[in-house]
Amino acid sequence: MEIWRPNWDELRSEALHACRLAAPELADLPIYVVFNHELPSSVFGAGFDGLCGFTGPHVDLAISAHLANGWLGRGPAAILYGERILRNLVDPAREAVSAIQEVAIHEICHVLSDQYDFADIESSSETIQEATNHIATCIAMPADLIRSRQRLHEPRRFVRCVIHAIRRLYMAGIDLCFPSVSGLAPDVGWRRLCKLESALGDEPERLAGLTFADILKHRTPEEYDRLCDDFDCVMKSELEPKAEGIANES
Ligand SMILES: [Zn+2]
Repeated sequence: MEIWRPNWDELRSEALHACRLAAPELADLPIYVVFNHELPSSVFGAGFDGLCGFTGPHVDLAISAHLANGWLGRGPAAILYGERILRNLVDPAREAVSAIQEVAIHEICHVLSDQYDFADIESSSETIQEATNHIATCIAMPADLIRSRQRLHEPRRFVRCVIHAIRRLYMAGIDLCFPSVSGLAPDVGWRRLCKLESALGDEPERLAGLTFADILKHRTPEEYDRLCDDFDCVMKSELEPKAEGIANES
């Protein structure tokens, strides 16, 4: 039997396709999807155990010198830990595209829920160095990253954006797993996540023509708000113990 090997360029292009479909408002910006093995391991190494993807407002600057097709200007960038994403798949030949798309969409939802401003700083040797140092620090500080997940993956903005992105993709024929995209299933459970999704009702279909910035200005259904409060408590109680030992937590 022939051994299946990932075609990283093909996986990248499927991931980009999903990002473009989910977020047409990013059409004027280049989107960068890179795998960590394509970047210098001194900075973008394996990261902490379980790290599957990484993004941030200035990641594009940090990777700008390492892109095969060159840097096309400021825009969203996701670093994907491809080997790790594929490692636990039962049938990678069939599941790889979805698994990579799920992590890429997760990262794009950070861009959308936090409304990154790609005009905030320009590319220069100083800003590139600063962005690179920042990523190296984050990746080398696993406890800090795990702790920060409480804030990064909150339900009012981030999870809501994930639900919208997933439904948009579903309407376009791409069926991704919502708990996998949210990245929260191991921490807060599938059942709670699915309740949030159903509480949002048909909002994703009704607001499908809006930008994510405009969607986030709309009030969520009461039941969704109630679940958000409940969810906050769960995240607090279930995630905080993992950050034990960190002094002066703020
Ligand atoms: Zn995340």
